[in-house]
Amino acid sequence: ERLRVELGARGYDILVGPGLLATAGKHIAPVLRHERVFIITDETVARLHLEALERALREAGIAYEALVLPAGEQAKSFEHLERLTDKLLAFRIERRDALIALGGGVIGDLAGFAAAITLRGVDFVQIPTTLLAQVDSSVGGKTGINSAHGKNLIGAFHQPRLVLADTEVLDTLPRRELLAGYAEVVKYGCIDDAEFFSWLETRGLDAIEGDPAARRHAIVTSCRRKAAVVARDETESSGARALLNLGHTFGHALEAECKYGGELLHGEAVAIGMVMAADLSVELGLCPSEDAARIRNHLAAVGLPTGFEHMPGRVWSPARLLDHMSRDKKVQDGRVTFVLLRGIGQAFVSHEVDPAAVEALLTNAIAA
Ligand code: NAD
Ligand code: ZN
Repeated sequence: ERLRVELGARGYDILVGPGLLATAGKHIAPVLRHERVFIITDETVARLHLEALERALREAGIAYEALVLPAGEQAKSFEHLERLTDKLLAFRIERRDALIALGGGVIGDLAGFAAAITLRGVDFVQIPTTLLAQVDSSVGGKTGINSAHGKNLIGAFHQPRLVLADTEVLDTLPRRELLAGYAEVVKYGCIDDAEFFSWLETRGLDAIEGDPAARRHAIVTSCRRKAAVVARDETESSGARALLNLGHTFGHALEAECKYGGELLHGEAVAIGMVMAADLSVELGLCPSEDAARIRNHLAAVGLPTGFEHMPGRVWSPARLLDHMSRDKKVQDGRVTFVLLRGIGQAFVSHEVDPAAVEALLTNAIAA
């Protein structure tokens, strides 16, 4: 399946399907300006999938170097960025060369940022290998690293030239990572596609379990939603892109409170955050409680966390969570942005939520 991100001269294709890694060279060659590429990947993905990509590039006659980073969020740092750009320059990378990000969102964000700043910008191709990266982070051109002051605070918009989402590479992904990515899939249904949400209620588990047709439909539909939003609002200036933050205001606060440790994956935090956003919408009299219940029930049915009981050992403080929210990048004039629901498929952005209502909701949810 071939989708297009419509961004004029910066537009690009997203290919979704099985076996794309093995034929990557053929797809990449036409978008390259010079036939040397640098594969950026992590140790885990290198062990599982690097050889297949190298073979595909050799078959297409594309010269490459592979640069392997440690796996995990800590790779999104100044330290690893510097090491990576130093290596690229030591290999005498040229303007017309390209990077290939082979990995999850961490590798995509880091390699994309390295591509944005090395020689003031070289091309890059995304080959996302996690469900989260396939349905979310590989599309849209947000790249960057973390700072001591917070996640993703240093970065650039730099669109890839191509996205290759091979649905088969997900077969090696741990189930917990797969489920975390699935939370973002559910998000698209909640935002503006009630029909997709209904489909997920019946076929979502099949998509997770690896039914090829179901998995592909879930990924293609998600990429289509993301591509449409990015085309309307490339740099998050008009507000359309802000809808993609459904569940993320709460989710980021939970992640920050857990210090981004392995206790809570991003997608797990987003699952809990979507339930909170739906519950808040019900509390504010905006959303039918049946819709909030459907979201919670579906997330729980596939095995995602939906509330604070997921982390029984931890003591939560509503005030601290609110404090994390007020430090979010999206805060404007001190107002926290929330994505609320009028129902499933009817999300909207609000800057008007009374912090007292949020605090009451958090207090109840923590006590439950
Ligand atoms: P990740 O890149 O850390 O990957 C998760 C783990 O899975 C890693 O240990 C990795 O080595 C392993 N892995 C990757 N592919 C595998 C495979 N096919 N088989 C087995 N193991 C595999 O995490 P992620 O969830 O993909 O991405 C999270 C990052 O994405 C965060 O840093 C987040 O900020 C970023 N993000 C960016 C955007 C964006 O728009 N740029 C959007 C959402 C998230
Ligand atoms: Zn997310």
